[in-house]
Amino acid sequence: MAREIETKCIHLEKEEGGTDHYGAISYPIYQTATYAHMGVGRSTGYDYSRLQNPTRERLEKIVAALENGVDALALSSGMAAITLMMELFVPGDHLIVDSDLYGGSIRLFDNVSVKNGITFSVIDCCKDNVEDHINQNTRAIFLETPTNPMMNVADIRVLSETARKYNLLLIVDNTFLSPYFQNPLDLGADIVVHSGTKYLGGHNDTLAGFLVTNRGDMSEKFRFLIKTTGAGLSPFDSWLILRGIKTLGIRMQKAQENAMEIANWLKKQKAVKRVIYPGLPEHPGYGTMKSQSRGFGAMLTFQLESREYALAVLEKVRMIRFAESLGGAETLITYPITQTHADVPEEIREKNGITDTTLRLSAGIENAKDLLEELDNVFHEIEGEKGGGKKS
Ligand code: PLP
Repeated sequence: MAREIETKCIHLEKEEGGTDHYGAISYPIYQTATYAHMGVGRSTGYDYSRLQNPTRERLEKIVAALENGVDALALSSGMAAITLMMELFVPGDHLIVDSDLYGGSIRLFDNVSVKNGITFSVIDCCKDNVEDHINQNTRAIFLETPTNPMMNVADIRVLSETARKYNLLLIVDNTFLSPYFQNPLDLGADIVVHSGTKYLGGHNDTLAGFLVTNRGDMSEKFRFLIKTTGAGLSPFDSWLILRGIKTLGIRMQKAQENAMEIANWLKKQKAVKRVIYPGLPEHPGYGTMKSQSRGFGAMLTFQLESREYALAVLEKVRMIRFAESLGGAETLITYPITQTHADVPEEIREKNGITDTTLRLSAGIENAKDLLEELDNVFHEIEGEKGGGKKS
């Protein structure tokens, strides 16, 4: 019987005998670089921790199960995962990438992948016709959905049909929803990427990244690459992410509830010109999200009446912290233009609508009442200072 996702976060379908670890309920941290052989040609299955480590392997099996993949690789950060994934391509290869991506991915493509001879077409995967951009060297489509930070929603099923037709890989960065709310492999993607730093870890205390695939050939390539390039996640960080994943379900549910409350509150503020949260029925991606995801997530973006107002919000928040990153217990607010998306070329930022009035909020799991009270105080203070009023 297939287990439900909350159970998969805690138990593997086939548990090893508990006696292997003295019955330890919390999986042990195998803090070792190397492993003794029982004799010549008699390995325990573990030779060297760059290749295999039991704690990392346990985490990889759990993440593969959560994404319904055949294999998952745990890397030292989300960017390490994307960098390793780019090793699938050779000079001359062409990729189609969505224009609204985490700024670090854009920086990697523009500065490292291009130097390595890869070419890119940057398009809007939610609106543009992908087929118009495919050429004989095209190998893959890479996107996030919802996107960071503008929360655009792409139809994974439709894109996977195009990918199949032209024999392209469909690669989806699923960081924003986590496997709790969305499983791109089930919708036709070939590779799923995660910044495990975010919801999977869930506590803003460590970095991690994942590549998950349901293809045996990709798994083999990735296993060769992790062994060769050496960016595998350390045993201790693997354990932290294992611990974080145990509560993924309840965290995602609570953070989503909070995001919905905050989105509805923001909509009522006179100084807020636009609230972009795919859980609001007026969001253009609402229908697609309902058909391909089990939730809307806990990330939202909003635009204020002026740059000064946006900066004042960042200056005045106290319990809500002004910090990069997302997906942890703590609610964080980010200024994409100078933080996560500072390295995105200006014309792309402008095209995507990332302005100096745009703030991104990652709802945490605090009590919603306290979050709304904090926001209310911040907005009141700003209004008081400029002598304005709120929407009636
Ligand atoms: N993908 C997305 C959507 C992200 O938001 C981030 C980081 O913010 C990354 C990838 C990179 O992950 P990391 O910071 O763990 O390297």
